[in-house]
Amino acid sequence: MKTFICFIAYCLLPIVYFFLPSCSNNNNSQPEARSRKPEASIPPAPSFNEDSAYSFVKAQVDFGPRVPGTSAHAKCADYLSSKLKSYGWHVQIQNGNISTYDGKKFNLQNIIASYKPENPNRILLFSHWDSRPFADQDIVDKDKPFDSADDGPSGVGVLLEIARQLNITQPNVGIDILFDDIEDYGKEHDNGENTWGLGAQYWAKNPHKPGYVAQYGILLDMVGAKGATFPREGGSNEYASHVVKKIWDKAAHLGYSNYFVFEDAASITDDHVYVIQYANIPCADIINMNPVTGQFGAHHHTHSDNMNVIDKNTLKAVGQTVLEVVWEEQKSPS
Ligand SMILES: [Zn+2]
Repeated sequence: MKTFICFIAYCLLPIVYFFLPSCSNNNNSQPEARSRKPEASIPPAPSFNEDSAYSFVKAQVDFGPRVPGTSAHAKCADYLSSKLKSYGWHVQIQNGNISTYDGKKFNLQNIIASYKPENPNRILLFSHWDSRPFADQDIVDKDKPFDSADDGPSGVGVLLEIARQLNITQPNVGIDILFDDIEDYGKEHDNGENTWGLGAQYWAKNPHKPGYVAQYGILLDMVGAKGATFPREGGSNEYASHVVKKIWDKAAHLGYSNYFVFEDAASITDDHVYVIQYANIPCADIINMNPVTGQFGAHHHTHSDNMNVIDKNTLKAVGQTVLEVVWEEQKSPS
């Protein structure tokens, strides 16, 4: 991300159709009690461990800035795939050659992990894992990289903890986690496709499995800062309002409406735009931004984006909410 996207740009995106169950009255319908099947019970969702998630955020930051082409980037990729494998997930590494807006060429690494890959009832969870090469929003050392604890690692840390929890509890639902690369090599105030979200674009055009289908996707971006607010982002509202409702209602039920505020915000250019556009998967973006001004946190793309901004309470609010949303998608064995 992260600049505002022109609403006209969204008009160019293909329309995603959602088929809702009919609620029309039928005079010939049978009495409800005769046709209703007994409801399958689902055990309570596990408790998301924020200490564990925090340690996953820190582990990434400890490699140093995960700027594409650096050894820290390579080491972090190995760490992420080995963690996912250790939780029993099926891991695929997707490599691709891409060029950034400044003419540099990189071999991107998208990391895709699948839980119950044979289950056709799938949900996609994603977050970028690269870090931005320059702190261009700072007033000093604008050309130097920064720790980038919130921007990337927070979402990845939450998803690693969800991966760990699902391995323990084994719910009957298919989940794919995509850690996409080279999201944050973008040019400020430029929404062209050769700037932001390069790894997500690559995956959306070349999914790890031909014909890949997911019911919906949830993108986590900058989900770890103290006092974060997640308004309902414009593109998510437009293309995945049913997903937004699931998430924000669940957060309210859990008492997290101070984070998941019921306010609508502008549309932004982020990974979900490309997954909606090219993979036809409706996606919601959970992203820390001011619902009124549309500004990101003060640490955004500055040297202040380090472990000092990460708050376990925020990780817990996001992690528990997303974990419970996917938990409820499971179909009990018949
Ligand atoms: Zn960023």
